[in-house]
Amino acid sequence: MIKFKNLKTDEIKTAFSLREDGEKTYIKFSADGKEYGYFKSNIEIITSDINKLPFRVYVYTKGCYKCHKPTEILTYITYADKPTENVIFPCDFDRLLDHQNIIAHLQDPSIEYYGLNVIGDIEEFDHLLMEKYPERIKNTYSKTKNRIYPMNVCSHCGNGQGWYYIYRDINEMVKNNAEIKLFEQSSERKEENK
Ligand SMILES: [Zn+2]
Repeated sequence: MIKFKNLKTDEIKTAFSLREDGEKTYIKFSADGKEYGYFKSNIEIITSDINKLPFRVYVYTKGCYKCHKPTEILTYITYADKPTENVIFPCDFDRLLDHQNIIAHLQDPSIEYYGLNVIGDIEEFDHLLMEKYPERIKNTYSKTKNRIYPMNVCSHCGNGQGWYYIYRDINEMVKNNAEIKLFEQSSERKEENK
């Protein structure tokens, strides 16, 4: 899904995931494979594939957890039992409940813990989103997950909106049968008019 060119050898390779840290880019070729470090200057990320994301991008507005001003959140919403399949509204409640995280739900009944993935759950998808929307999604440290991952940043104060809040909101909206809007199409039309 992520293609890059090794500028030293001119080879084009497909990566499973990619993260940047200082002067280096670390690339994995499979989900549990070894991570390889490359100097950023030695690789070129090929962007042609990035314009076509392999999932739907949904958008909603939430109050920033820090400054409380409204800010837009972009996320994919896919089924936990098949992470490449979009949750499309009205959604399949039986399926979401079949794969519900019941233990987590019992610990915190205020969240349904439906079997769904949002930004922060799938590393490869998070990176694709960040590459496509670098102004909105940035690598940010999360205390909850104790790692750095791409997060929506508040358009006012720049703070990263963590997985927990977004997962919580999406669960709530799904439970209330609210239809979550698609982001991509409308934004791409705007781009074309420029
Ligand atoms: Zn804010």
